[in-house]
Amino acid sequence: MTDSTSSPPDKDSDEIVRLNKIIRALMNRAEKTMNVRGSAFGLFETAVRLEDKVRRRTAQLENALRENEQINRALQRAQKRMKAEIAERQRIEEALRKANEHLEQLSTTDPLTGLANRRRLMEALTTEWNRALRTHHSIGLAMIDIDYFKKYNDRYGHPAGDQCLRHVAMALKTAVRRTDIAARYGGEEFAVIFPNTDYTTVYHVADRARMAVYSLKAPHADSDTGILTVSVGVAAMVPSTDTTIDQLIYLADTALYVAKREGRNQVRGRFLESSGTQSEKITFRG
Ligand code: GH3
Ligand code: MG
Ligand code: MG
Repeated sequence: MTDSTSSPPDKDSDEIVRLNKIIRALMNRAEKTMNVRGSAFGLFETAVRLEDKVRRRTAQLENALRENEQINRALQRAQKRMKAEIAERQRIEEALRKANEHLEQLSTTDPLTGLANRRRLMEALTTEWNRALRTHHSIGLAMIDIDYFKKYNDRYGHPAGDQCLRHVAMALKTAVRRTDIAARYGGEEFAVIFPNTDYTTVYHVADRARMAVYSLKAPHADSDTGILTVSVGVAAMVPSTDTTIDQLIYLADTALYVAKREGRNQVRGRFLESSGTQSEKITFRG
């Protein structure tokens, strides 16, 4: 039963309860605020740390960029230097090549006439001989000697003799074919190699060369014709293992001797037949 005397709900205690609630609510809020502040502080600290990190990283990147630029510039300079060095090296190599070419030309060219010299002639003769040996083709050789050249020198002088040698060289070179090799054999003697040519053709081209000199009409008061002439000995053979270059030269030389003996200004020839017998060939007087 309810105590009728008990006082109605105490207004004060209600008030206390209410205030307590408010206080608790305020405390909760204060706590929350504190928490928020705490995390905000944490965030701030993190932000500061991050900013510092970013600043340091940016500085590192800027340094790296600067270094990169320096390296690039150094590379460009090195490339430029290398290009210049390569160009210089190419210039030197080209000059060396030309010098070697010039030396090679000097060592194989007769300085007076510009024709191949004897050394070059012998090299070419060996090459062509071996080629003919392989291919079973005929090879020809002409030995050409100026007639009464000693008398020419005696009468007109040595410098005129030299000039005459140049003219004869030019006449011979232009008379033979592009594939034939004209050379100064020595003194007033010349030689022509006729690669891949049969005896008859060798003979006719050699005679054309003789005529070319005759056609210069260079006065020679002490020769039989009154003009400068040459005598020519030709030879041809299909090389075999039984024959030699010396034999070919010997045949041309002996043919030249016959041309001189028979009156000069003519071509005489000898060729080695396949049977191995030598026979003298036709004579021609210009
Ligand atoms: P042959 O008709 O029998 O051939 O008589 P040749 O007088 O022509 O022959 P020889 O061998 O008696 O004389 C060759 C001359 O060629 C003698 C030499 O002074 C001359 N000779 C050789 N080389 C040169 C040269 O480079 N320049 C000049 N000017 N003369 C030269
Ligand atoms: Mg001679
Ligand atoms: Mg002579």
